[in-house]
Amino acid sequence: MVKIGIMICDRNRTCTGNKCFKSIIERDGAFSEYPLNEPIEVVGWSACGGCPGERLEFSPADFKKYGAEVVYLASCYLAGYPVCPYIEDHKKYIENIVGLPVKIGTHPMPTNYLKGHEKIGDWKRDKVEHLLKDVTKNKEDADKYDSTNPNFLKK
Ligand code: SF4
Repeated sequence: MVKIGIMICDRNRTCTGNKCFKSIIERDGAFSEYPLNEPIEVVGWSACGGCPGERLEFSPADFKKYGAEVVYLASCYLAGYPVCPYIEDHKKYIENIVGLPVKIGTHPMPTNYLKGHEKIGDWKRDKVEHLLKDVTKNKEDADKYDSTNPNFLKK
């Protein structure tokens, strides 16, 4: 059993979380490292509170109180235009002040976002490709999480 907390980008503060929860259930993206028979308990879910991270000093500490062993910065930190400029600061704060390890990304990055960022070139310009490794593992998963795909959720 692993207990986790998830921080999401405030630009998506009203997100329903469906892709993150689907990836937890189906062990996709960043959650593929956990076997299906190992339960993942989400002890908390919080938007960052808006740039530069109004909730940063509070939510991860609360996650820890409720037993979180790791904090995930959700894929929306990376999917937005541009990628969260404070992502490294959030990671450092949570690891060094709160004292929990941080993983970057949750669900696989959908194909429509991969195409959009490739077209704009911001991931390359901002040298963030190393942050994307857990959520850009394969094309099949990228297509599976693309809600603009006509076959989305059909299989
Ligand atoms: S860009 Fe970063 S700091 Fe700004 S709202 Fe999103 S996650 Fe928070």
